[in-house]
Amino acid sequence: MSAPQRAPRVGVLALQGDVREHAAMLSELGAEVVEVRRPEDLEGLDGFVLPGGESTTLSLLLQSSGLFDPLAERLAAGLPVLGTCAGMILLGREVLDGRSDQRVLGVVDLSVRRNAFGRQLESFEADLDVEGLEGGPVHAVFIRAPVVERAGEDVEVLASVEMGGVKLPVVCRSGAATAVAFHPELTGEDRLHRLLLEEVASRRKGAGA
Ligand code: GLN
Repeated sequence: MSAPQRAPRVGVLALQGDVREHAAMLSELGAEVVEVRRPEDLEGLDGFVLPGGESTTLSLLLQSSGLFDPLAERLAAGLPVLGTCAGMILLGREVLDGRSDQRVLGVVDLSVRRNAFGRQLESFEADLDVEGLEGGPVHAVFIRAPVVERAGEDVEVLASVEMGGVKLPVVCRSGAATAVAFHPELTGEDRLHRLLLEEVASRRKGAGA
């Protein structure tokens, strides 16, 4: 008989933003949640979540806490990650309309413009079909959301919204990273977190963990 597997250990960046909602959703789905504030907290994680908040502040806090470089390394090495809103900005490779000292983790080949829906609408909601998610459309809440202006060739666009005849990617996936422009954690929408946990499970299986 094989030993029962321990629960997946998922870190939630807990420097700023809507940490609690992500943590509650992950616990509900059976994960052990680690609130990550210091480099030591990254030890032994199977997955990671970058919450929404303010990407400029998150960038500064990531640097002052010493987390920026070790986290970037873990993500570059393939730690499965979900980033929502400001988390999407942080996962990208280039930030437009950022602060001059704002750094991003560069995990997904995206150029992302901050607050770009905001010129027309500060926040809005939409029902989206997300490729690969069963069970009907995702009700998406966008709050001062980023716009993906460029997605690299290895980026799969799983959902878009149409604005003024242009399709703007809002769910993007590359390797084990998923970047989402809206806030699934605020509406009880748990399918993207499930996707993260599936990715974690398949990596752990592959590693024989
Ligand atoms: N506008 C924020 C930023 O630039 C993101 C907003 C959010 O996470 N809800 O970081």
